[in-house]
Order: sequence, then structure tokens, then C-alpha cells
Amino acid sequence: MQTHFSDAQLLDPQIREADGILRKCVHCGFCTATCPTFVMTGDERDSPRGRIWLMRELLESPESVSADTGYHLDRCLGCLACTTTCPSGVDYHHLIEIGRDRMDALVKRPFADRMMRRLLAMVIPHASRFRMMMRLGRIGRLFAPLMPGNMRAALAKLPTRLPAMDRIGSKTMEFAPRSPATKRVILLAGCAQRALDPAINASTVRVLTKLGVEVVVRQEAHCCGALAHHIGETDAAHSAMRAALLAWREELDAKPVDAIIANASGCGTMVKDYGHALAGDPELADIAARVSSLTMDITEFLADMPLQNILEPIPDGGWGAVTYHSACSLQHGQKIHDLPITLLREAGFDVRQPLEPHLCCGSAGVYNILQPQMADGLKARKLDNLRRAGAPAVAAGNIGCITQLDGDIPVRHTIQYIDWATGGPPAY
Ligand code: SF4
Ligand code: SF4
Repeated sequence: MQTHFSDAQLLDPQIREADGILRKCVHCGFCTATCPTFVMTGDERDSPRGRIWLMRELLESPESVSADTGYHLDRCLGCLACTTTCPSGVDYHHLIEIGRDRMDALVKRPFADRMMRRLLAMVIPHASRFRMMMRLGRIGRLFAPLMPGNMRAALAKLPTRLPAMDRIGSKTMEFAPRSPATKRVILLAGCAQRALDPAINASTVRVLTKLGVEVVVRQEAHCCGALAHHIGETDAAHSAMRAALLAWREELDAKPVDAIIANASGCGTMVKDYGHALAGDPELADIAARVSSLTMDITEFLADMPLQNILEPIPDGGWGAVTYHSACSLQHGQKIHDLPITLLREAGFDVRQPLEPHLCCGSAGVYNILQPQMADGLKARKLDNLRRAGAPAVAAGNIGCITQLDGDIPVRHTIQYIDWATGGPPAY
């Protein structure tokens, strides 16, 4: 794609980066076929190619930008399916971040939208606040008809089940294996995940320690910053990233660490991108790059471990059928798709795959709260495809998808199935 930035514009590092990305797009349109929002609306402006065009206009001629541009950029899920499909290697991930940054600086959002974003960024990254909000929300549902539309939509998204709060991550903790440790890892316990489901971190720690891995969890690293980062709450995002990085730097400097483990793929994608996000930060750039290079999804880490040594004998007929839902942040953000399926099969599960595995379930961080109509349509489509696969349960690698889809069919984390097959409690 041709661009026409002036020399003065190109002095801005963000514009220079965007220029390089835009020039790679050849407008072939392959990406449109796998873009969930284009599949739902058929509107070119809801496709990656259309949004790339809109962003070029926005960045080249900000004075002529219209609210329509913001509307279509906001409808992008950030699922990154387009980056998996694109044959030209267009870095849509970082382009949309720049586009949204610029849009936010140019056009003030309506008051209710700004307040909702501020509230989400203040609450969800703090597990205990989020927990309290969910409790209050359950009471608030009674008054939903009296509330503004975006509040009603948020209340409708409250999870169907709310197990006890996760204690892992409530303070700095170390989990030692029974035998001498062969590896040492840092686990990112997560924020929303701790408030929503304690079983995921418990399963992760159980499997890792059985494998002889020492696990460290730092309380200060209570959130990766992804949620705030994606909704333009830059200060909140930076403060969460800084807290995590400073705590992890202490750990990395104290003893060798083999990996930083993320078991929520949305967080994993963010932490793997710290090096890029903080490249211009004189205090944090080095540690951010180091942390990104050490970060692994839990399935990525397990792939190099002797899992077969800790598997229980597989019952006659295996552990049963499970449909694997590939979270966008894992399959598109981190390009990990087959690995969790291979691990589940190795553990003894009959793994099925749904139709349209590349399409997002509509969760996408807090997209399901901010864009409820599109999110609900994608959720219904995904659930339909999961049901058709015919298995009694679903495995997924991200708490966002799990909360979005769990219901008639139980949806549990991949590590809970691995834990089950290695002597832990049943996944559902
Ligand atoms: S597939 Fe890639 S090169 Fe083709 S239109 Fe989409 S982003 Fe551009
Ligand atoms: S990130 Fe997802 S929703 Fe956004 S343009 Fe790419 S494929 Fe479409």
C-alpha cells in the first residue's frame, strides 16, 4: 500500500512504525475471510483490509477523521486472526494499537463510554475488587431495567458460576516439588482469573510440581496490564506492567529462572509483547525484553517436559471426548494451536475440533461488555459449532473464553484436563 506521510510526520516514531506496517499490505483481501467482524457484518470497514485503509487515512490526515473511523476500529476484536491469514506479514497487532491511540487522542468518547472504561480498568485488574463487583453485580441485576444500556450489558455478562477466590497470588508464594527441583519458573497468577476460578492455578501448580518444577508466584505481579492496555487506559496498564517487571527482576536476579509461565493466553500474549510495548521506556526496556523472551504459555512449557512420567494409567476407552476451543490470543496472538491438542491426546483424551476454529468467541478481554451485540452474535455462533462437535465438555486456554462460553457445556482450562489425567480432580 502506498503511503504519503510528510517528512515531519515521519519524525514521530509511532508514525514511522505505522508507515512500515501499512506499506506491507498489498490489499489482497485474504484476511477478510477469517475476520469475525467482517464475517458477521459483510461491511468492508469491519474487515482488516478496510480498517487498515481507515487507519492510513487517520494517520495521514488526522484533521479529516470522522467518528465513523472510531466506530469501526472499536468493533475490531483484536483477535489477530488476520495476522494468521495475511501472506504479507502485516503487523496488524501493532497497527491497531497505534490507530486506537491516535483515535483516542483526536475524538473524545461519550461520557458513559469513558466512565465504563475507567471503571473496568480500575476494578478487573484487582482480583478482590473484581470479586466484590461481581457480588454487587448479582444484586444489581434486580435493578438492571433502571440502568443505562452499557451497565445492563455488563451485568448480563456476569459468570454463571462463581467458585471461591483463588488464594494463589494473594501473597508471594513458592511451591516446591517433592523431589529436588529440576527447573524453576515464575507463574503469573493473573487478576480476573483469580477472581473467577481458583482451579486453574491450582491445577497448574500441581502439574508443574509433580514434574519436579519449583514454582514462584509474586504478589506484586497481580495483573499483566493487558485489559487496561487494550481499552486505552495507558496509565493503569503501565503501572501494572511496571509492578510485575520490578518484582520479576528481583526473582531473575536472585536465582536462575527457566520460564515465566502464563496460563491465561490473553496475558501470555501481552507479556510476550512487553519488549515491544516498553521499548522506549529507559527504566524498563531491558527487563521487559528479558521477560518477554522468557515467557511461555503453560502448554508450550509442558511440551518440553516428560509428561508421560506422571500420567495416570489411561482408563479403557480413554478419559472421554473433549472439544478444543482455540483461544485467539493463543492461536493467533502466540501462534500456538496444535500443541494443546497434542498434549490432551497424549494425556488420553479424544480431542475434537469445532467448525470455524479460527473465529473468536466474542470475549476478547472486555469487548463483550463494550460491544455486547457483536460479542453475543459471535458467542452464539461459537457455541453452536462447539455443540455440533458432540463432546460433553470443552477445553480452552484462556479465562476470557472460558467465562464467555461456560454454561450448558462445561468449559474448563486445558491444564485442568492434564491435571485430571495426572491424578488431580476431574476437570468437570
Ligand atoms: S491479507 Fe494482509 S496484505 Fe492482504 S489485505 Fe489483508 S492485511 Fe493486507
Ligand atoms: S483483529 Fe480480528 S476483528 Fe480485528 S481486523 Fe483482525 S481479524 Fe478482524
